[in-house]
Amino acid sequence: MARVVVTGGAGFLGSNLCEYLHAQGERVICVDNLETGSLQNVEHMRGDQFAFMNHDVTEHLEIDEAVDFVYHLAALASPIDYLRQPLHSLKVGSYGTHNALGLAKWKRARFLISSTSEVYGDPQVHPQPETYWGNVNPIGPRGVYDEAKRYAEAMTMAYHRQQGVDTSIARIFNTYGPRMRPYDGRAIPTFLRQALENKPLTIFGDGSQTRSFCYVDDLIRGLFLLVESGEHDPMNLGNPGEFTILELAETVLRVAGSKSSIVYEALPVDDPQVRQPDITRAREVLGWEPEIDLEGGLRRMLVSLGREPVAV
Ligand code: NAD
Repeated sequence: MARVVVTGGAGFLGSNLCEYLHAQGERVICVDNLETGSLQNVEHMRGDQFAFMNHDVTEHLEIDEAVDFVYHLAALASPIDYLRQPLHSLKVGSYGTHNALGLAKWKRARFLISSTSEVYGDPQVHPQPETYWGNVNPIGPRGVYDEAKRYAEAMTMAYHRQQGVDTSIARIFNTYGPRMRPYDGRAIPTFLRQALENKPLTIFGDGSQTRSFCYVDDLIRGLFLLVESGEHDPMNLGNPGEFTILELAETVLRVAGSKSSIVYEALPVDDPQVRQPDITRAREVLGWEPEIDLEGGLRRMLVSLGREPVAV
């Protein structure tokens, strides 16, 4: 049995990760200040093998038992949250990552930081391999998220090189699935909510910008394999299937059997035009690739909401 700390463990990805590790019989310590996460996401994990610690990771983090792995997921991850609290976003990326790395160093635990495809900014290289250094606007409104993650990656490598901490960096591309908040502003939960309420689906821009969408079960498996691998360099984890936002909206309408219309609003500042992971490294090093396609993932998400997907 391994002892695992998951920061941000009461959030969307964190709670799915806690569930995966808990089901394997690991002892899971979920650290979260419930800023955007919820106890409902973890209440089904009970017993000695699960502990919840209400803690803000920007404060010193101390755990009173042995720890083998630290998955550091705490962050203000969705645009509505980091735009609402820009300074806190930078603090979680800096102080929060420093505290989580300090815990890993102290416990001699393997560490994973959940970085993001946003480190590539509005990319000039397509699809994006890990060797691409990115095109981020540091002073735009999104800079508080993108640069916090870039800084967190730099700090992770410094702890590895200078302090000998066993670290790993997952560059996560858009991931979706059960437990996303319906009002978190991200495309899939927003479109699904609008489709199920028969309200117009809101597309920002003309819908020609592309994204790739990874189902949460695939992503969690990738995070686990990365931690098991002993790799230190960044690893893209995402689904290489690429869709325009308009195609995504139409797929949601079809799978949900909704007659909602589509409306268009102004594009947010610095919204990337394209986004698609090059997962060659993950395939070669981890033997990992996603197994669930967009329609399959949307169907699972509908079922988790108690709805029946439409047969196509
Ligand atoms: P989420 O908002 O559901 O989860 C984040 C969790 O961190 C929440 O439970 C929140 O309460 C917690 N948190 C925030 N600030 C904290 C603090 N100061 N101390 C302790 N806990 C704190 O978001 P998510 O989608 O599950 O994202 C998880 C991680 O994955 C984040 O680091 C995010 O940047 C990264 N990521 C997610 C995606 C995605 O598509 N979901 C893509 C790229 C990267």
